Amino acid sequence: MSKTQETVLEIHLDALAHNYNYLTSHLQSDTKVMGVVKAFGYGSDASEVAKELVNLGVDYFAVAYVKEGLALRDAGITQPILVLHPQPINFEILIDRCLEPALYSARIFRSFVAVAEEKKQKDYPVHIKFNTGLNRLGFWESDTSWIEERLNETTSIKVKSLFSHLAASEDMGEKEFTLGQIENFKKIAADMTERLGYAPMLHQSNTSAILNYPEAQFDMVRTGIGLYGYGNTEEYDAKLKPVARLKSIISQIHMIEPGETVGYNRAFTATHYAKTATIPIGHADGISRKLGNGVGSVLVHGQKAPIIGNVCMDMLMVDITGIECKEGDEVIVVGADQTASQLAESMGSISYELLTAISQRVKRVVCRKP
Ligand SMILES: *Cc1c(COP(=O)(O)O)cnc(C)c1O
Repeated sequence: MSKTQETVLEIHLDALAHNYNYLTSHLQSDTKVMGVVKAFGYGSDASEVAKELVNLGVDYFAVAYVKEGLALRDAGITQPILVLHPQPINFEILIDRCLEPALYSARIFRSFVAVAEEKKQKDYPVHIKFNTGLNRLGFWESDTSWIEERLNETTSIKVKSLFSHLAASEDMGEKEFTLGQIENFKKIAADMTERLGYAPMLHQSNTSAILNYPEAQFDMVRTGIGLYGYGNTEEYDAKLKPVARLKSIISQIHMIEPGETVGYNRAFTATHYAKTATIPIGHADGISRKLGNGVGSVLVHGQKAPIIGNVCMDMLMVDITGIECKEGDEVIVVGADQTASQLAESMGSISYELLTAISQRVKRVVCRKP
């Protein structure tokens, strides 16, 4: 790996391969894999991740919005792409670029059929989403007859899959609720399959469900966070490898006398002769102000250097008193030794939020070898 000379987000494709193989080792041999690459591949680089997942044998992709699917098509991805949360304004381009919509409500269903008919489509692949307890998006169990009637009125679409999403698959304290969601989905799927007269694919599991509910794999699983190296528990985090590693350097070192302050609002006051380092990464790069004032740290030569004072837009300051280092040296913000879940936990958040917050200003560097 070349020397770090500015703030970069390294994307380690060997870690992605490790995570893919770990997750798929938990699957039955015929279970398909949908790689979730929404939000720039959980803050990494959706196109690079998607291309590597194709090499690894992924079957399907999922994104949240149409725009994200278009970016994958522009990058040359030809695999099927499910758009989890499309809006009618994008249905024409969605069809033009062969993206597949999740139909999650009567409003979305009607407007998609209208566009598909106008564009003279036949059997356009769609995915029907059911709400089984997350109460976020999806048809209800009682909507199956409405869906059947609407499907009988058109030949423009064909149901490729039925799916649902779990609310708490990472939380074994909610096992009973999750098992209830799985049973509910089975019931809806049986009802819907009978009404359709053919068997679309079924899928309900996200990463934590792959690990915690092997009985709920159905025909396909949708994995996001696990691919990027996080498993929502310390145990699974230890088995996976972080794909994204956020590195920076020491721009400048200062010696501060007792009583002097550091940063905006003079939020840090030195109580000792302190050595401080200024790092070129701030809240505009996705480092939350919540990590300021000692809540978060960075690693300098493997040693913890706490963030002092307020995180600025473009930089932050850390206390490096007692750490042997010099200007230009590398700093680890997120990596194998300080993971996104650990840093996120210090501010009451989760790996998902910290990773996806890493802004587009940070240069992405793809790394292929360990
Ligand atoms: C984001 C998302 C996933 C992926 O969840 P992970 O916990 O990251 O594996 C799966 N399904 C749906 C509907 C999602 O929105």
